[in-house]
Amino acid sequence: MKIFQNLNFVLVDTSHPGNIGACARAMNSMGILNLSLVNPKEFPSKESDARAKSGKKVLDKAKIHENLNEAINSSNLVIGTSARSRSMPWPMMEINDLGKVINESLARTEKVSIVFGNEAIGLDNEDLGKCDFHLQIPTTEDSSLNLSHAVQIVAYEIHKESLSDPSIQTREVELATNMQKEKLMEHIELILELLDFYDHQNPKQVPARLTRLIKRMQLDKLEIGILRGILSKLEDRLNK
Ligand code: SAH
Repeated sequence: MKIFQNLNFVLVDTSHPGNIGACARAMNSMGILNLSLVNPKEFPSKESDARAKSGKKVLDKAKIHENLNEAINSSNLVIGTSARSRSMPWPMMEINDLGKVINESLARTEKVSIVFGNEAIGLDNEDLGKCDFHLQIPTTEDSSLNLSHAVQIVAYEIHKESLSDPSIQTREVELATNMQKEKLMEHIELILELLDFYDHQNPKQVPARLTRLIKRMQLDKLEIGILRGILSKLEDRLNK
C-alpha cells in the first residue's frame, strides 16, 4: 500500500469531534496518515474515535498545535482549501493539477500540507494568506461541502494520481541512467543497419523517434538489461 510520508492534512479550529473522526477515516483510506489539529474544540473524544473506524491510527498519532504557523512551518508547499472566492484572489490551484503537483513535490522529498477550515466560517483571509495556493473544489452554487467530504475529495485526487503515474511510485529497480539509454539506442541502430532497415532516401527521423520512445518508457536497469540481451542474440544471428 502506498503511504504518503511527507504529506500532512491540517484541520484548523474544527468544532465537531465527529468530523475529525470522519476526516481521519477519509485520509486513512487513501494512505494519508499525518493529521495536524490546530485548536480543535474537543479532542481526543469518543465521538472522533467512533467515526474514524479503521482511521483510528490517524487519530492516535495526530499532532495538536496552537496556531497554523506551528503546523506548517516545515512545509515546502502549502495548499489552503476554501469554497469561497476572496476579494483579493490568491494564486489558484486547479483540482485537475492538484494530484500531479503534490506527487511531484513529494517525489522530490519536499513536505506538503493541505489546510482545511472550520465548519461554520472556513479559513479566514489571514490563514489562507499563509498558504501558497487556494484550492476550490468545483461544485454547484451550493459550494460548501462537509469538512470530511472536502478531505475525501482532496485525498482521493492525490492517491489516484500516484496510481496512474508509475514514475512517481516507489520503484523496485532503479531507473536506467542516461548513458545506459544511449547505449541501448546505439545497439538498436546497429541492428537496424544490419537489417538494412533504413530507407536512406526517406529517413523519417527514425532514430529520433525511437530515442523519444525510450525516454518515454522510463525503463529501469533490469528492463534495459533484458532488451540489450535480446539485441545481442539478434546481432550474433545476423553476423553469422
Ligand atoms: N461556511 C464555510 C464552509 C466551511 S466547510 C465557508 O464559507 O468557508 C469546512 C471546510 O471544508 C472549509 O473550510 C474548506 O477547508 C473545506 N471545503 C468545503 N467546501 C469546499 C470547496 N468547495 N472547496 C474547497 N474546500 C472546501
